[in-house]
Amino acid sequence: MTECRIGVVGAAGRMGRVLVRLAATTPGFSLAGGSERPGAAELGRDLGSLAGIEDQGLALGDDPKAVFAAADAVLDFTVPAATLGHAALAAATGKALVIGTTGIDAAGEAKLAEAARQAPIVYAGNMSLGVNLLAELVNQVARALDPAWDIEIIEMHHRHKVDAPSGTALLLGRAAAAGRDAKLEDIADRGRDGITGARKSGRIGFAALRGGDVVGEHSVIFATDSERIELTHKATSREIFARGALRAARFAAGRKPGLYRMKDVLGL
Ligand code: NAD
Repeated sequence: MTECRIGVVGAAGRMGRVLVRLAATTPGFSLAGGSERPGAAELGRDLGSLAGIEDQGLALGDDPKAVFAAADAVLDFTVPAATLGHAALAAATGKALVIGTTGIDAAGEAKLAEAARQAPIVYAGNMSLGVNLLAELVNQVARALDPAWDIEIIEMHHRHKVDAPSGTALLLGRAAAAGRDAKLEDIADRGRDGITGARKSGRIGFAALRGGDVVGEHSVIFATDSERIELTHKATSREIFARGALRAARFAAGRKPGLYRMKDVLGL
């Protein structure tokens, strides 16, 4: 197995540091470089010491082009505006890009699809095997149950998270909507407040909780008269996302251009 050289943009972030650590220490992978936004306090520091491991002889820079040049695949868990810039770099270089950033709007997603005509891009709101399996289960359950079963999705994350509902909650919502041959945008109730009126049949409701250091918890609830099914996933470490991202990098490196999902990577 040839070694897969990994670049990490946003390398000083919560996910970035875990990605750096796993890329540098997982057999079959090596760390090729990392970047941050211009002006970031950590610029110039060694990527290894930033990630809590031994020095790697690689300084954190602010030039993503250098990261793309040195890597077979680049991992991007940053912010939507930065991710669109990185997607353009992937298109220009043909290098593989793995995007975990959430909160990208429809116009941004159209730009990702455009970039994916020239580079292999894996884009997923959640890279863990468990959540992607859960999405498959949610799809099957939604398909099996009639619309008299109300579907609600609850998620909880740490206090620093900036977008809601979480990318994972939306991923699960899309899986449930697909099980009912519907598009999530047409049937989603993204937060309720005030005199909302009775629940409309066939909708998928979302509730987002924020607090503490919760890595990520999601429950999909199917409720009807006299019974309820709840499917839950709890993440206790960001490593599950980083492991999935490395698997996605190995899948995408050298593959033909296209926009891929974790389903493709995991063969679900
Ligand atoms: P974070 O704020 O700790 O890290 C984001 C990093 O991106 C910061 O260090 C920031 O300085 C950096 N950044 C911003 N602009 C940049 C630019 N132009 N170039 C390079 N770096 C830049 O956030 P986090 O908790 O690590 O999460 C990051 C993203 O990943 C969020 O969107 C989050 O929802 C998502 N996420 C996805 C998954 C998944 O499995 N898909 C898992 C966890 C988090």
